[in-house]
Amino acid sequence: MILDGKIITRQLLSDLSDQSAECREHGQVPTLAIVMATTDEGAAWYVRSIQKTAEKCGVAVRLIELNPTADTEVIADALQEQAADSSVHGLILQTPLPDGVAIDSLLSLIPLAKDVDGASPLAAGYLAYGLPSFVPATAAAVMKMLEYYHIPLTGKHAVVVGRSRIVGKPVAQLLLQAHATVTICHSRSADLARYTREADILVVAAGKPGLITPTDVQPDATVIDVGTNVTADNALVGDVDPAVGSKTALSPVPGGIGPITTALLLQHTVTAARTRT
Ligand code: NAD
Repeated sequence: MILDGKIITRQLLSDLSDQSAECREHGQVPTLAIVMATTDEGAAWYVRSIQKTAEKCGVAVRLIELNPTADTEVIADALQEQAADSSVHGLILQTPLPDGVAIDSLLSLIPLAKDVDGASPLAAGYLAYGLPSFVPATAAAVMKMLEYYHIPLTGKHAVVVGRSRIVGKPVAQLLLQAHATVTICHSRSADLARYTREADILVVAAGKPGLITPTDVQPDATVIDVGTNVTADNALVGDVDPAVGSKTALSPVPGGIGPITTALLLQHTVTAARTRT
C-alpha cells in the first residue's frame, strides 16, 4: 500500500490559501524570509519549490541571498535584520552554510515566534519539554502522514533511522509524545535490520539509497521514507527500496513526505502571521 503525500498536500494548501486570504484581509501578508549563503544545487531546488508553492497559496517569500563566502557576522546581520522586521512572520536559515560558520550561534538568532522550522536550540528544548512551539517541518510532515492514514501509535514500537537535529531527533520526540515506544538507530548502530524488523512504524532519514529492503521490514509495518537522494541520472530516490511498498504500507519518495514538508513550513508561517493578527 502506498501512502500518498500529494492528497494531504492538496488539502493543506487549500486550507492555507483560505487562511492567508483572511490574513491579507486584516492587512497582514504572511511572509517567510529565507537567508541563504550557498550555491548548492539541492538547496536552490528546495528554495524554488518553497517559492512556487508559496505563490499558489498567498504566502510571500523574501529570499536574502548572501555570498557563499559570507562569514558568521554577515549572516548574523542578515538574520537579525529579518528577526527585527515586523512584516516577516517566519525566518529560516538555509543550509549548507559556508565552511567555518558558527551555525549554532546563528540559529540562536531566530526568535522562537518566527522559528517556523523549529531550528534553534531553544525550539529544540521546547520540543523536548513538550512545550508548544513550531517543530521542524519534516518531522511534522511525518506525523501528519501517520495521522492522515490513522496509523495507531500508542504502545507501538517506532524505529527511527537517523539522529539529525532536523529530522531524526524531532521525529523521535514527536513519536514519543504520541505514546509510541521509540528506538533511534544511526550510522554506528550494530545490526540495523535487527531493529527495523521489529518496527511497527519505521521512519528512515539516513540519506542512503536502498538502505531498507523488503527483508528488513515486517509485513504489518508502516514505513515512512524521508530520504531524498539524487541518482547519477538525476532521479530522486529515497532510502527505502520501492519494493518494500509491495510488502508493507510505504510513504514513498517522491510523492510522500517532501511536498507535505513544504506545505507545513508555509502553514507554520501563516500560523505565525495569524498569531500576530
Ligand atoms: P544527516 O546527514 O544530518 O543525518 C543522517 C543520519 O542518518 C545520521 O544521524 C546518521 O547517523 C544516520 N545514518 C547514516 N547512514 C546510516 C546507516 N547506514 N545506518 C543507519 N543510520 C545511518 O541528514 P538529515 O538532514 O537528517 O537528512 C536525512 C535524509 O532526509 C537525507 O536524504 C535528506 O536529504 C532527507 N531530508 C528530507 C527532507 C524532506 O522534507 N523530505 C527534509 C530534510 C532531510
